[in-house]
Amino acid sequence: MPAASLATNGAATAFTVRIQESSSTWPQRPESYPKLRRIDRAFERELDALAALLHRFGEATGLRTNISKSSIVPISCGGLNLDEILAGFPAPRTSFPTRYLGIPLTVMRLKKVDFQYLLDKISRKLTNWHGRNLTQAGRLVLVKSVLSSQPMHTLSVIIVPREVHGEIDRLRKRFLWAGNESLTGGKCKVNWPTVTRPLDLGGLGVLDLNRFARALRVRWLWQQWEAPNAPWAGLEIPCNDTDKLLFATATTIKIGDGARTSFWHCAWAKGRRPKDIAPDIFTASRERKMSLREALDEQTWVRRIDLQAIHTVEHLKQFVELWSIAQSITLAQNTEDHIVWKFNASGAYSAASAYRLQFLGHTNFNLKALIWKPWGPSKCKCFAWLIIRNRIWTADRLATRGWPHNPICPLCRRLSETAHHLIIECRYSRRVWEAMASWLSIAPLAPVS
Ligand SMILES: [Zn+2]
Repeated sequence: MPAASLATNGAATAFTVRIQESSSTWPQRPESYPKLRRIDRAFERELDALAALLHRFGEATGLRTNISKSSIVPISCGGLNLDEILAGFPAPRTSFPTRYLGIPLTVMRLKKVDFQYLLDKISRKLTNWHGRNLTQAGRLVLVKSVLSSQPMHTLSVIIVPREVHGEIDRLRKRFLWAGNESLTGGKCKVNWPTVTRPLDLGGLGVLDLNRFARALRVRWLWQQWEAPNAPWAGLEIPCNDTDKLLFATATTIKIGDGARTSFWHCAWAKGRRPKDIAPDIFTASRERKMSLREALDEQTWVRRIDLQAIHTVEHLKQFVELWSIAQSITLAQNTEDHIVWKFNASGAYSAASAYRLQFLGHTNFNLKALIWKPWGPSKCKCFAWLIIRNRIWTADRLATRGWPHNPICPLCRRLSETAHHLIIECRYSRRVWEAMASWLSIAPLAPVS
């Protein structure tokens, strides 16, 4: 539509969600209304056509549009007489930002306040739970399975601001460590980056929303390859430079005829993108959207470089490196380019592997086999995880904070209380270990220091 346009929100939802009985009738435009200006007439005709279309769709399929649950959002309609134009489509009028299919929609840049509904959604869950009556293991399950899943739909289609991630983390953190009470330094036993590591990397396996959102967004880049004829193909996708870099790192392109591979933006050059190999040449290129086939055809990529911008040794170095790689490429006609996800046995993208990939380089712990995999009550596992990390409030840790404590172990009343003493050294604990060893007939059960 031209400068002034109207967006209908909810009509499409009504097709799929609002299935009504066929007794309802479509409201009719009043017979007599004042003369409209020419531009008003144009919009009035467009809306009448839209109303007729929806009406006939409802007649044919029985899926009738619920006008009262649809909404109309005028965009730049300052000079128009909307009351008369909308007479044939009397849906409630609203303004941006609004939500469509559960996603915030606006003509401006989305702000933190536009994502308040996500925080409200999580807070509503929290009000129904009595956190103080749950064990930490119980709260951990709720954080992992319920709280972490609330923003997933939004995270997969929009780049959510970092501050919103921070607010969601704050709610999850507070519930995990303090239930519904306020979170103080003493209650927060382990820092959040450690908690959000996978189990085998020493964490609690709570989702790191920043990393998982990135893993979800990378799916769009994968789908661009896998479904080039999808209805959304060619539209802007919600991926930033880091997402694209991660995708380039995680994939290998098997070059065929070069038609589907972007010369500058795909990682076909020994697993790297030419824009990363030769960033200055990329900047100097006048054509950045050509395919590999177009670029290699008669060295088009070289002829598209603005020679005026090439004037340093670094430029020449980058050019020679890229040129030597390009020279080594032979295109195979009648074979399509193919992409493989490197971090999955099937060679296909999965959100789990894209998430896991972002933890490469972290130290591996065997806590998964030691604590999480064996059978045992969850609260005991959580306790074991905390005590291995020395995060139980034993006397030595209370002393470092200057908090009131009894320095002597209350079990043996001889030595000072530390996590190590409590589990391994204490004579009382050792007697418990021995009793268990005898009961289970496993002699070497007691831990050794
Ligand atoms: Zn003791």
